[in-house]
Amino acid sequence: MPDNETDLEARFRARVDAELAELLAMSRSSAGERAPVELDQQSVGRLSRMDAMRVQAMAQAGERRRQARIVGLRAALSRMDEGEFGFCESCGEPIPEGRLEVDPTARLCVACARLGER
Ligand SMILES: [Zn+2]
Repeated sequence: MPDNETDLEARFRARVDAELAELLAMSRSSAGERAPVELDQQSVGRLSRMDAMRVQAMAQAGERRRQARIVGLRAALSRMDEGEFGFCESCGEPIPEGRLEVDPTARLCVACARLGER
């Protein structure tokens, strides 16, 4: 933890760290479900091959969402290290804490995020 860490960073770092650790653990534990579906019915057990492929597709979609979130969480941690956490990347204004509470990976203030949606 850097000496110059702000209260804001201290409050959110633990939460971001915890979510990151949880996602990485889920990613590891679900690796088997994402593995290629074996042709050998023995290894699939009761599930039909179609079911196994559906499970695999869902697991892969879940993993893509997890990886995107992991990228966002790591970016938030590096912004904390750089002292840029909590400031809008577009206009430089502080991001309201309520917005960070909802999503600590938010990179834009409310006004700039709205502009981006147009
Ligand atoms: Zn802004």
